[in-house]
Amino acid sequence: MARGIVRAGVYLPAFTDGRRRVRGPDEDDFTLAATALERAVGLGAGPANEAALLPVGFAVPPELPIFARLLGTSLRLDDASGRPGGLAAAIADASRRRGPAWVVVVASDRDRSAVGPPGEGAVAILFDDEGAVAAPEPDGATPAPGAAEGGLGAALAYLSSVRRDAVGARARPDPTLGRPVPGAPADDRPPPPSVSQGAFVPAPRYAESQPSRWRFVAERCAACGLRTFPARGRCPSCGAAEGLRRESLPTEGGQVVAATWIAPGGQPTEFDAQVEGSGPYGVVLAEIAPDARVTLMVADAGRDEIAVGCRVDTVLRRLYPIEGAWRYGRKAVPATAAGASAPIR
Ligand SMILES: [Zn+2]
Repeated sequence: MARGIVRAGVYLPAFTDGRRRVRGPDEDDFTLAATALERAVGLGAGPANEAALLPVGFAVPPELPIFARLLGTSLRLDDASGRPGGLAAAIADASRRRGPAWVVVVASDRDRSAVGPPGEGAVAILFDDEGAVAAPEPDGATPAPGAAEGGLGAALAYLSSVRRDAVGARARPDPTLGRPVPGAPADDRPPPPSVSQGAFVPAPRYAESQPSRWRFVAERCAACGLRTFPARGRCPSCGAAEGLRRESLPTEGGQVVAATWIAPGGQPTEFDAQVEGSGPYGVVLAEIAPDARVTLMVADAGRDEIAVGCRVDTVLRRLYPIEGAWRYGRKAVPATAAGASAPIR
């Protein structure tokens, strides 16, 4: 089979400025790119080979390769990442080279003047030598001036020009415009200084816990069969540190078993700026698998939308700034009925 598109994922924020999508207060370039990538990877097994990453419209954050590795794919940063020509050049490049290559497009508020609807968001497209869909010529991906900078609308137009059933439902953007954004949208300025009080996790432990935090990775003990979540590197029942098999728990469809809302003043100081910007936030305890529960902040939803018994999906979002950098983790959002395997038409 000829080289072409293996699969693609699209992520559009849940919020609107009245005309176009805008990112929420806890979304940034990394979370947009990671979520589109996650959706694309979720449509099938990740490529075994190291894939080239051709970023469009954003600087690759240090977290993205980590996230991709957690997804079971891997990324090799492309040395031509600063290439001129944006989306069309990236697609042409991905269509010509050998082996798997991701084109990941992020449209940010920096592109507002240039890119028309749908606004902000991200698209991840995987090209490979045995593509399910022949990749169309990238000419169609060079429409409006300025689109080369971010190119979300152009990337969506490009995707709609391929046989979409082959790239799956997750490549279909939500046609609704979204809801008003609470507080100011996130920006890409350096994180504000923060004094830890309550939520702080030291950097080494944060890095070590990323598989459990970002991908809900649990461990199954070969000796006694107990599953431990989050992974701890040792079975709490029999003490075994060897023979622990890692398994990923579902990131969608968890059931809320407890829910509370944190009023201003009740939050750890790490979340001061968030509460100031967008008010109280929800915290839920969700059962994501039998005997596996996780505490999650609520995103993109009001108090009346999340309650005990509700199903929730999870998304990777900004948590809080610490030591000059943002920390990320999964948050709960109301479950969508859209299945990754549902055909588009
Ligand atoms: Zn054990």
